[in-house]
Amino acid sequence: MNILVINCGSSSLKYQLLDMETKNPVAKGLVERIGMVGSVLTHRPANGEKEIITAEIPNHDVAIQMVLDALVNSEYGVVKDLSEIGAVGHRVVHGGEKFASSVLVTDEVVKGIEDCIELAPLHNPPNVAGIKACQKLMPGVPEVVVFDTAFHQTMPAHAYLYGIPYELYEKYKIRKYGFHGTSHKYVSQRAAAMLNRPIEDLKLISCHLGNGSSIAAIKGGESIETSMGFTPLEGLTMGTRCGDLDPSIVSFIMRKENLTTDGVDNFMNKQCGVLGLSGVSSDFRDIEGAADEGNKRAQLALDVFAHDVKKYIGSYAAVLDGADAIIFTAGLGENSASMRENIVKGLSYLGAEIDPEKNKVRGEEIDIATADSNCRVLVIPTNEELMIAMETYDIVNQG
Ligand code: ADP
Repeated sequence: MNILVINCGSSSLKYQLLDMETKNPVAKGLVERIGMVGSVLTHRPANGEKEIITAEIPNHDVAIQMVLDALVNSEYGVVKDLSEIGAVGHRVVHGGEKFASSVLVTDEVVKGIEDCIELAPLHNPPNVAGIKACQKLMPGVPEVVVFDTAFHQTMPAHAYLYGIPYELYEKYKIRKYGFHGTSHKYVSQRAAAMLNRPIEDLKLISCHLGNGSSIAAIKGGESIETSMGFTPLEGLTMGTRCGDLDPSIVSFIMRKENLTTDGVDNFMNKQCGVLGLSGVSSDFRDIEGAADEGNKRAQLALDVFAHDVKKYIGSYAAVLDGADAIIFTAGLGENSASMRENIVKGLSYLGAEIDPEKNKVRGEEIDIATADSNCRVLVIPTNEELMIAMETYDIVNQG
């Protein structure tokens, strides 16, 4: 069975068509600038040249129609007709407390996702637009939604509640939700396979370090703590997000810089993090490059980030009462040997030590801990699309 995985943003759409026998993508692609001037679809068949198609793409209906046309195109398509697509899996950012797992799309489910719009005003509306477009263009093809938040719904109340009046949790659902759940779930399952141990027996600390970063404490395959919160702003210092702050800083900056609520929101999400600290870039490759050339603020930004990650690993080791493995994943976690080294350096109390030679390996699943490390250190390339496809496959084939 082929499964089409769709990840709709407000002005972009990423897709992959996966063959569930081989678990490999047959094609992938990206639509950019939806609803803007200069819209473009970049389509990459697994066994062929990439195709760039420019057209007016005013909305998600048109974007998805173009994706479907590209998939069946006689020159660069990968299937003969749409009947070869067995199901669609959609990434949805926020499932609130309603959705603790992936589900088959029904009218009630769409309504449930719409009810969560208040919690993710930028993300859930385009996700819903993608679902509705597929319903229209591929009638009868089952669709499944996979939520970024669902994996963390196993967190106990003492982990997800903030120190604010309980009535505000009841009234506005203000609590920790956590994000990157699909990635944390995928790498934790891969970790169990790599360690050749049942996931039920494992205590794992999963570090998804990319442009957005989060850490999860995973016990017996379930998330029991994570660093992102009510929104993805909480936790680690990120590419452009500030992460944890003394909450008083928010009102202080608003007064000093004369910022509105939207202004301070934008500031904390777009102008802070390692971008704000380094003054160089939000991209860790640029920051590492600048630090190598002697830029002190760039080095400081890297040090702040590594220190943050180390603090979270320590606190999650406490929450888990030890850890069998620390997992590194996503752009930075998978690729930056120096960042991994800085983070793990000094975690001897946990029994984690990196083998410098193994730490150099890139692009594959590898245990980079020394032979006598009590806590393993795993580098696992994440694959959220495959995880979405696998969940979609399981749900579609259940009934
Ligand atoms: P997101 O999905 O959140 O946009 P990614 O998981 O793609 O993020 O990670 C992007 C980040 O990973 C960027 O900051 C990028 O600089 C960093 N990154 C990618 N490759 C490397 C590398 N070789 N060395 C250091 N950082 C890297």
